[in-house]
Amino acid sequence: HVPLRVPITLPNGSTYEQPTGLFINGEFIPSKQRKTFEVINPSTEEEITHVYEAREDDVDIAVAAAKRAFEGGWSTADPEFRARALFKLADLVEQHAETLAAIESLDNGKSLLCSRGDVALVSKYLRSCGGWTDKIYGNVIDTGKDHFAYSLREPIGVCGQIIPWNFPLLMWSWKIGPALATGNTVVLKPAEATPLSALYASTLCQEAGIPAGVVNIVSGFGRIVGERLCNHPDVKKIAFTGSTNTGRHIMKTAADSIKKITLELGGKSPNIVFADADLEKAVKSIAFGIFFNSGEVCCAGSRIYVQDSVYEEVLEKLKEYTETLSVGDPFDENTFQGAQTSQMQMEKILKYVQIGTDEGARVVSGGERKGERGYFIKPTIFADVDENMQIVKDEIFGPIVTVSKFSTVDEVIAKANDSVYGLAAGIHTKDVNKAIDVSNRIKAGTIWINTYNAFHQNVPFGGFGQSGIGSEMGAAALDNYTQVKSIRMSI
Ligand code: NAD
Repeated sequence: HVPLRVPITLPNGSTYEQPTGLFINGEFIPSKQRKTFEVINPSTEEEITHVYEAREDDVDIAVAAAKRAFEGGWSTADPEFRARALFKLADLVEQHAETLAAIESLDNGKSLLCSRGDVALVSKYLRSCGGWTDKIYGNVIDTGKDHFAYSLREPIGVCGQIIPWNFPLLMWSWKIGPALATGNTVVLKPAEATPLSALYASTLCQEAGIPAGVVNIVSGFGRIVGERLCNHPDVKKIAFTGSTNTGRHIMKTAADSIKKITLELGGKSPNIVFADADLEKAVKSIAFGIFFNSGEVCCAGSRIYVQDSVYEEVLEKLKEYTETLSVGDPFDENTFQGAQTSQMQMEKILKYVQIGTDEGARVVSGGERKGERGYFIKPTIFADVDENMQIVKDEIFGPIVTVSKFSTVDEVIAKANDSVYGLAAGIHTKDVNKAIDVSNRIKAGTIWINTYNAFHQNVPFGGFGQSGIGSEMGAAALDNYTQVKSIRMSI
């Protein structure tokens, strides 16, 4: 038996209490079968703790609690009540920022630099969601002089939310923030590799005065907990972030009961450097575009295209800059890139390094594991790649980038768009007309010009093609969590 709270000592010597139970109806409880699973620190390969593993019957209890909370007042509460709770939660995230960042680095392996950035985005986003609660507007529609018509946006009900391991706390906030702002209740499943921050944040939900049952966290495995959320008749909406294959499966499962669905899936995003770019700035941007968060980023700029006249220069500068990025202990203040999140992910990435080498691509930098303990991989640059290589086609989800050259705008647009994905793209140029022309012609949900991986709570983020359905953040996120009711009256 695992206690419902365990003391965990962080590398800086401080200790915090980690909840291990499922968070259902406002309290932490063991799972029905009292089974637990192990949570590993990817930087040391040591066990951090065990947490309780939910099964189908636990999900059913959580969904029932969420349904009661939805019907019992949350969905019809004064928007100010919901706003206050979200503002308080944002404040609490800020007050607990260092602990939350440390939990994230411990559990996910990312550097403190990355974790602190995530936590800052989380509090901003929750506060922004608090501000939306009284701005969920419908429309007045002109239907002629004999009738009056208007539309309302109403909450959907219980939302099943399934999140990945690359941004555990940030994805928790992208999911619960807009759902709660619009009056829905949630049952959220964190990824099995990284359940700790969502459980810790549940203590903040309690403290923020979010009523019991409004947020429920069921840690466990995708094929059991995720599957049950997708086929549960009382779950009215599924919001998922993760791989395209799992997204495809979730969509099929949720189809039986016609659940509303939003999917934020994989990517293989192009990052283009034109010869007229500020090359010093562009090199840092393309390196950040792929190596940020250890490359475990759905919108990572994993395909770099450089105009032929500056190809060798950019490649040389990229190699030089990449080799200055420090890889290692996530808790070292100087570390840029921490560990990959799991052994499985590390092995998958290393397999792709082998595939790339076998395909004949040239390793310019990295190309191997760093050290023998912890899942560290050196930032890796493959040059002289061919568009048909597997390393150019597949999402690798690690610090591996391919670099190839192009000569004309039309050529690079054709290459950039030659992907089943369409999550993001980067363009580096000083020519404004070219930047706008290329951004109009690239098929992707987000285009960054002379920057990369820049997020803001008011800017929508979502995918074209097999990168997903629906956009998160900004006003767009509210559409994901509301349904339109039209009212027409004879006068
Ligand atoms: P995944 O998509 O399988 O997992 C994401 C979430 O979905 C987890 O919470 C998981 O438990 C859940 N899940 C898994 N199977 C499910 C099912 N049948 N029904 C409902 N939920 C289910 O991702 P993964 O296996 O952890 O990683 C595999 C690959 O996915 C990675 O190598 C990477 O390429 C990609 N990935 C992409 C993203 C992204 O944001 N685009 C995030 C994570 C992983």
